[in-house]
Amino acid sequence: MDAEVVVVGAGVVGLACGAELASRGRSVLVIERHGAVGFETSSRNSEVIHAGIYYPKDSLKAVCCVEGRALLYRRCAEYRIGHRRTGKLIVATHEDEVEKLAGIAARALANGAGSIECLDAPAVARIEPGIRSRGAVWSPETGIVDAHGLMHSYQAELEERQGSVVLNTRVVSLTRQSFGWRVGTEASDGERFAIDCGLVVNSAGLSADAVAEMAGLDPDALGYRIRPCKGDYFSIAPAAGVAVNHLIYPVPPMDGGLGIHVTVDLGGRLRLGPDATYVDTIDYAVAGEKAEHFAAAARRYLPDIRAEHLAPEMSGIRPKLQGPGEPFRDFVVAETSAAGAPGMIHLIGIESPGLTASAALARRVADLCSSA
Ligand SMILES: Cc1cc2nc3c(=O)[nH]c(=O)nc-3n(C[C@H](O)[C@H](O)[C@H](O)COP(=O)(O)OP(=O)(O)OC[C@H]3O[C@@H](n4cnc5c(N)ncnc54)[C@H](O)[C@@H]3O)c2cc1C
Repeated sequence: MDAEVVVVGAGVVGLACGAELASRGRSVLVIERHGAVGFETSSRNSEVIHAGIYYPKDSLKAVCCVEGRALLYRRCAEYRIGHRRTGKLIVATHEDEVEKLAGIAARALANGAGSIECLDAPAVARIEPGIRSRGAVWSPETGIVDAHGLMHSYQAELEERQGSVVLNTRVVSLTRQSFGWRVGTEASDGERFAIDCGLVVNSAGLSADAVAEMAGLDPDALGYRIRPCKGDYFSIAPAAGVAVNHLIYPVPPMDGGLGIHVTVDLGGRLRLGPDATYVDTIDYAVAGEKAEHFAAAARRYLPDIRAEHLAPEMSGIRPKLQGPGEPFRDFVVAETSAAGAPGMIHLIGIESPGLTASAALARRVADLCSSA
């Protein structure tokens, strides 16, 4: 065999899986169709280290976020990855939202999101004088991280243990063999070759349903169909005079996102986003005419912001499992012997908080590989 395990996809989760498997003594190849790691969702997100506030108790999203956050802060210290424990305010701007704050705080505490406080409006003003609110939930454990630094740390750990990332190579077929799987690939110059391995980890993000289909699985029957949901970001010009030092989120709307929020990156630049729109095609262009909508959403808590302060910055696309208006769907981390594809572990629907949860997801994948 060419490797014990082939991981399809070198986003943050595929790389974390590669590093974890290599640290447990497995020989690993991570195959990526682009010419660099983390070219898709892993470099198109808010880079927030989530505390674990929003998700239903005991869901994989909640458990892996809390466990992954602790592992992530530890990793940042060990590998000197840029990060900052900024803290986050979830602000209520209407009376009916104030009632929701206690519920958000209770869920966060039940999930183990660290210390959480409900603040009244004067207390919020003491932390962030530029914000208008009627109260907020304060999460000191929330932070920001350099996502590329994180990915490079996983890649370095993988390579230190003789694993490899193979770039510019697309997985095009998966054929079951007596020893495991034959992974058919096509390089960007058109050359085709096959890799024989014992186990396959499907960490293909937005294409994870297509990769499952390559192995003969039915994504619709298994509930693996991805419903892409786009989020646009706008940068906030210094001329806006917005001075915030923490992450500012609204009380989450019911659109599948966390609400248009303000994040600050490690260089101190502020941006607004993401919104949430279900899409049929993968197109990362950001429509400048949305600026007024973004400004209006943010004016609820940043009263002076106007459309002319905003410039289209970037977008990301969430690999969601739930369609518009559908109830909560959890991360899927599953081995598919029962569905007729043994020796394959699938990571499906790894939307937020997948960056935060990456190391915890990788542990679960490595455990499944041990028992497969
Ligand atoms: C707008 C937005 C904001 C977010 N904000 C946050 C946040 O603040 N905090 C947080 O924790 N999470 C956040 N997330 C979630 C986080 O970004 C993702 O959960 C995480 O990046 C998923 O990583 P991944 O490795 O699973 O997927 P990806 O990064 O998409 O990687 C999958 C890789 O597989 C490759 N691939 C696919 N098919 C093939 C094939 N056939 N052959 C070879 N390679 C293939 C792709 O090219 C890609 O590189 C956000 C997501 C979005 C969209």
